[in-house]
Amino acid sequence: MSQPAILILGANSLATAQRIKAALPDATIYGLAGRVEGADIAYEEFGPTLRDLYNADRPIIALCAAGIVIRSLASLLQNKQAEPPVLVVAEDGSAVVPLLGGTRGINVLAREIGVALGTAPAITTTGELRFGTCLLSPPAGYHLRNPADGKTFIANLLAGAKMRVEGEAPWFAAAKLPIDDAGTLTARITSADVEPAADELLFHPATVVIGVGRAEPDLATRILTALAQVKLSRHSLALLLATERDAGSAHLTAAADELGVKLRYVPDATTPEALVLAAVPEPIQAVTIETLAIAVADKLEEVQLAGRKRGRLAVVGLGPGDAGMMVPAVRREIDQAEDIVGYDTYVKMAGPLRPDQIVHPSDNREELWRARQAFALAASGRSVVVVSSGDPGVFAMASAVLEALDGSEDPSWHGVDLVVLPGVSAAMAAAARIGAPLGHDFCIISLSDNLKPWPVILDRLAHAAAGDFAVAFYNPISKARPWQLGEALDLLRQHRAPETPVVLGRDVGRPAERVTSLTLGDLAPEMVDMRTVVIIGSSTTRTIKRPDGGEWVYTPRWYGTAPVETEKD
Ligand code: SAH
Repeated sequence: MSQPAILILGANSLATAQRIKAALPDATIYGLAGRVEGADIAYEEFGPTLRDLYNADRPIIALCAAGIVIRSLASLLQNKQAEPPVLVVAEDGSAVVPLLGGTRGINVLAREIGVALGTAPAITTTGELRFGTCLLSPPAGYHLRNPADGKTFIANLLAGAKMRVEGEAPWFAAAKLPIDDAGTLTARITSADVEPAADELLFHPATVVIGVGRAEPDLATRILTALAQVKLSRHSLALLLATERDAGSAHLTAAADELGVKLRYVPDATTPEALVLAAVPEPIQAVTIETLAIAVADKLEEVQLAGRKRGRLAVVGLGPGDAGMMVPAVRREIDQAEDIVGYDTYVKMAGPLRPDQIVHPSDNREELWRARQAFALAASGRSVVVVSSGDPGVFAMASAVLEALDGSEDPSWHGVDLVVLPGVSAAMAAAARIGAPLGHDFCIISLSDNLKPWPVILDRLAHAAAGDFAVAFYNPISKARPWQLGEALDLLRQHRAPETPVVLGRDVGRPAERVTSLTLGDLAPEMVDMRTVVIIGSSTTRTIKRPDGGEWVYTPRWYGTAPVETEKD
């Protein structure tokens, strides 16, 4: 099911929305702008937002009166096959009412939410109440080929007709269906590409796997042609299996996306046959067409456990600390991760985490070790997030992760789905608090000489000073490096006037935040610690008094003399 949208109109509904979200981690909470703080997304108008989500086929959970939702969607309720699940939940979580989406698992969703809220959903569909299952929305792994015949089929069952079952569908056993070998109706479960007969519901089970011997262009088309050749339904295709050496091939991911199936990897299999046999050792049908091996498993479960998924490694920036300064893509990535790797303090900043997420905290210094650990986890098929504060590419884990990859010949590491997601870096966060001290050319220099020689730092600083860049110092000082900042300031003072504005941002975006402005002449190393970012203005950086006694600091966009008319951009 695509990602559900939970819509709320007021702050009172947020707690219930969060309980629902805890049960549906893919869900996004939409809160009315100006009324709700802490939603994932703010919206301006209820009706248009609801209709956009409906048209985008997103399952909708609205925490409001049913009437509001019904009236808002009234104009769109023509086509029953196209409707996403829509349900309403009382603000306090006391009632769960499925409204639309009978063929799209609405009652399953209503039950899940009911469990999360400790309340019985108001199920109103007769067939489902009577038979304990909705034939029209089979469980995951089964595709109903002819939903349009469903209404008549269920009406006949309700009128007393019996139903034969041809093929295997264990979920029928748990329901209260009138199953009888002499029945006039048929539920047929088959992976064969056949047309449904009269009085028949045809289900395709996801039992077909394909071993892809070679990752090449147009794979999806070739797979569909091969399935048609052996008369298997594309709706029974459960997954593609490929060798781990091909992990990361764009052809494979494109084919899996296009076909809407999972992609799994098998280490060490060399032929297409070996790929499918490693996953389905005793297929009930097997055939090889060119570089594609097709196998049909006896049971769904065999296929569900086959192969291993491509691991993902996301190096994410948390921003300086405040949750509002974390980009939404990072929040989503953390929410879907199985493993969180990082320095203890940052792992805490990445919260809230779920109990099923495994945390691998470590010391702040062991960056390369941490990167290797993350690769080892991801290469085993897990979804791993490595957290950095600020931006992961600024003196942080992204480079460490790439160094680890660069030093590895292991194909399973190179096959990992690696992404880097940016964050708000400390200098940007501090600068924004006080104006725009980095509003013109600037550079960022780490004063740490742990991984680069001090003379290199001084040399770069001399050039930055001579070039009249504004400069931000990261890692300005520490117990182990007490004198470096003083020496750096001595050098800068040879190029800059004592009145040059300086900004100290300490614990920006955290509870103890303090952002102060002073001058280069007044700046002393004792005012600075390792939780501070130091910004030193260029010759053009200036200040404006604020009514609260503080000041704005900014560097104008021009250099030399102010232009008469500013550019429009
Ligand atoms: N990746 C981080 C920087 C890591 S280097 C980022 O992009 O922000 C660590 C240095 O960053 C610290 O010594 C300090 O100078 C600065 N820093 C990181 N977070 C900070 C914060 N919240 N407030 C002020 N400075 C911070």
